[in-house]
Amino acid sequence: MISNYSRSAGALRALLENNGVSNPNVLRVIEYTPRHVFIDDVLKHKAYENTALPIGQGQTISQPLIVAKMTELLLQAGVTDKVLEVGTGSGYQTSILAQLFNKVYSIERIKSLQWQAKRRLHQLDLYNVAMKHGDGWQGWLSKAPFDGIIVTAAAKSVPEELLAQLAEGGVMIVPIGESEQTLMRFHKTSQGITAEKLATVRFVPLVAGEIVL
Ligand code: SAH
Repeated sequence: MISNYSRSAGALRALLENNGVSNPNVLRVIEYTPRHVFIDDVLKHKAYENTALPIGQGQTISQPLIVAKMTELLLQAGVTDKVLEVGTGSGYQTSILAQLFNKVYSIERIKSLQWQAKRRLHQLDLYNVAMKHGDGWQGWLSKAPFDGIIVTAAAKSVPEELLAQLAEGGVMIVPIGESEQTLMRFHKTSQGITAEKLATVRFVPLVAGEIVL
């Protein structure tokens, strides 16, 4: 069982490299993180395919390639310390961040997903993650500012409250749009905020308002 998984993980690493992921730390962490831990039993056989998969509650675990690229974008911007993730979901992206940054904060609106994710992170001995059940549009004011913010659901407009919680010199990676979504990078400098369009992407929506118990 285990050797099957690790062979597939090696193939996944190769696929990421062939698709332009070059940061050796990102490649190593993705190769050695057991993605099957974050996936329901019936879908585990697909754990090392480069595909998003359902995780219940109408949500999905992101595709490994997008997880790798978004993580790489934070590292490229020089972020090392304090990262906020919006949309914990399965906890897979969280687990990758936890191995590359000093401290990770992650917000999820669906309580049951948050609990499952927390359990999985502990199973992998990752303890540098703080989790909050709440509305990601509001960010996590008491822990701000963040050096990096990564949003793993599509915001229909620029999440201004999150930009406000970015440290000077910090970067936010966020998909923006509804049926058509663009991955955007925002940089906060002493002169203000710059925005760049990076790629066309597809995420579940960043829901406004209500949290789910
Ligand atoms: N990073 C996750 C992707 C999960 S999909 C993974 O790798 O598994 C996006 C997640 O964002 C879902 O779990 C969804 O419930 C959550 N979400 C959507 N809107 C939200 C909001 N306003 N606040 C917090 N979480 C939200």
